[in-house]
Amino acid sequence: MFFNQFQGNRKINNDEYYNILGVDKNADKKTIKKAYHKLAVLCHPDKGGDPDKFKSIAEAFEVLSDPEKKQLYDSGGKEALEGSGMSNPTDIFSQMFNPGSNNGRQRVKKGNNINYPMNLTLNEIYNGCNKNISLGRNLIDKNSIVNCSGCNGQGMRIQKIQMGPMIQQIQSQCHDCAGIGKKYKTKYFTFSDEAISPNAFDRMSKAILSQGVEMRALGMLKFESDSVETVELFENMYKAGFLMLFFGLESANDRILSIIEKGCDQATEKRVLENSSLAGIWNHLYLFFGFPTEEKHEAQETIDFTVQHSELGDGTIHSVGQSIFSLEKDSAIYHDPAKFQINRILRDPERDMAIIFDYEIEKGMSKDEVLDVYESFGKIIESNFPSRSIWNYLSREHFLLYLDHYGREEILNMARPLVQHT
Ligand SMILES: [Zn+2]
Repeated sequence: MFFNQFQGNRKINNDEYYNILGVDKNADKKTIKKAYHKLAVLCHPDKGGDPDKFKSIAEAFEVLSDPEKKQLYDSGGKEALEGSGMSNPTDIFSQMFNPGSNNGRQRVKKGNNINYPMNLTLNEIYNGCNKNISLGRNLIDKNSIVNCSGCNGQGMRIQKIQMGPMIQQIQSQCHDCAGIGKKYKTKYFTFSDEAISPNAFDRMSKAILSQGVEMRALGMLKFESDSVETVELFENMYKAGFLMLFFGLESANDRILSIIEKGCDQATEKRVLENSSLAGIWNHLYLFFGFPTEEKHEAQETIDFTVQHSELGDGTIHSVGQSIFSLEKDSAIYHDPAKFQINRILRDPERDMAIIFDYEIEKGMSKDEVLDVYESFGKIIESNFPSRSIWNYLSREHFLLYLDHYGREEILNMARPLVQHT
């Protein structure tokens, strides 16, 4: 030990901590601990003890209970401990009641474990192999977070208003940061509202452009009509930074569209998607199969529509997500099943917290037929959207980063050769 060698003949003052705890210098760990616990309970400030005395007891224990620190102290007294990292004595008190929780030392904070399932052949297990894996984790660039200058990070501002002889204080939300208090210096946004109207998108885009805000975003838009959802609207949106739009197509069959009161028909869907695509926007469609009474040929119309406008078709649809209809609690159908030709909703008394219900209906595809359509459509998406090999494995927020970095055409190009090799 460094300190042993250079102490020379100087008298080392290392009695104090032993005296505080009232233990012999040869006392073992158990005796030191016992002495400390006894004193700590007697002298803790919460129990009316003298805080200074408690602090010195805790300090003594911190050193004598830690073999490394004890050795330093024994060999060089308090001086030797300088820089060895003494911690807050109250930590020690909590340690006493939560043994093993912390060593009095700062620990590196670790994230949660990540499980990564990996398929290996027996050959690889026996002979060993190298594999590359890619893992995603959420990162916040802490340096990019700054306090809002309008409110110093409080999210609130206090205004003083003179009213005659009185001064009134009014607390209000900070306008600069909408009460958030912090600024994150990001240009990427997800608009998670499911029904932003075209007019709202129009106003938003114009405001973003006129204020020169740099933004990249994705949002969700409803099909209304091509007289509202014009190429000009989409061009403004694209310039403002809306690189990607999500459309709830649901179906491309006019009868289904009318019974779900979508407010549009297939022709409108087609023109709106064309306008958006022309402006440079990446169009993602959501659709589902198996709405009550939907027939197979009606589902086929939705499939044909998607293929016709797919990446390998005229290219106005860029990605698709499909699902199967489910009857949800408190939906319009749940409250008026007869209107949708449902004979009976099956309520299982055992499942009183159910949010999805089975039902009886005479028309339309059976559940098995719907499942067949769903599965075959999965294969159709695969073969008609080569870029699926990119977007299918990314969250939409991450895909936005790809879109911003590479641009739409580049992404479509990088995906195309992949499909020729398979
Ligand atoms: Zn603020």
